[in-house]
Amino acid sequence: MKTIAVIGSGTMGNGIAHAFAQSGYKVSLVDISEDFLKKAMTTIEKNLGRQVEKGTLTKEVKDRAMANISTTTFLKEGVREADLVVEAATENIDLKLKIFKEIDENTRPEAILASNTSSISITRIAAVTKSPDKVIGMHFMNPVPIMKLVEVIRGYGTSDSVTKTIMDLAKNLGKIPVEVNDYPGFVANRILMPLINEAIYTLYEGVAGVNEIDTVMKLGMAHPMGPLQLADFIGLDICLSILNVLHNGFGNPKYAPCPLLVNMVMAGHKGVKSGTGFYRYTPGSKELTVADRFRK
Ligand code: NAD
Repeated sequence: MKTIAVIGSGTMGNGIAHAFAQSGYKVSLVDISEDFLKKAMTTIEKNLGRQVEKGTLTKEVKDRAMANISTTTFLKEGVREADLVVEAATENIDLKLKIFKEIDENTRPEAILASNTSSISITRIAAVTKSPDKVIGMHFMNPVPIMKLVEVIRGYGTSDSVTKTIMDLAKNLGKIPVEVNDYPGFVANRILMPLINEAIYTLYEGVAGVNEIDTVMKLGMAHPMGPLQLADFIGLDICLSILNVLHNGFGNPKYAPCPLLVNMVMAGHKGVKSGTGFYRYTPGSKELTVADRFRK
């Protein structure tokens, strides 16, 4: 493995490119517009710079990492030489199926095709390619350069050798890979999303307020962040869409999204990215203020 193509340069894509480039891999970063790519490179440079300031990375490694990344808006060109493609484009099934068909047609036969999807079936994605045995989930956590876990998801047809290669590769990045099978939500979101949903139900039913719920989970369970703040950070629209995947995939009412979550997403209150969720976010301020609606 020498050359990695990363498809999508958003929150996850730029972090994935950063992690590979820092570990010495050549990265070809692909997105649909030059503006997105420029923004991603600025973010990567800023984040690498922060590591240099903290003394966890040398300036030489930072410069080498930046030089390891090239960018393109032409997917075909970006994936042609790749040993591994990691797709981190927008979470939309039709888009991912289209991208995987295109990747499959334009990569070398031995290239491994991975997706960073949080919730879409790897088996379904693999089915649009010629070789489902070489399609796998490589689910990094946000922020990628900091978080150690990589959930490695075996689709129904993923081969043992491809799984081993990706497990080893994740270790080379300094990460800790965990192998799981391809069922709705995999492991991370199957456990996390019902926890978040239950926290929202607890608020919806008036058992306790936003601060109280998050404080119980932070101080009582030693979680670094309460579930409502975490939901805001992930994006309430993303939480809703993953709960729908669990609900539809298992057909079990225990995964039904809380009506309060559905209402908040319909109203555009999506958490940090929209400025309001369970808390209110003011650019530049680190203060955590409960959203007006949930103040007593
Ligand atoms: P994002 O919206 O920040 O970035 C997605 C990027 O994909 C955008 O820059 C967009 O322009 C690009 N894109 C869209 N269509 C494309 C195409 N045809 N070709 C190339 N690029 C294209 O999204 P994100 O949060 O980085 O999420 C990306 C993936 O990672 C999703 O599958 C998501 O489920 C998964 N994920 C997200 C998180 C998270 O916390 N954000 C965590 C784990 C996994």
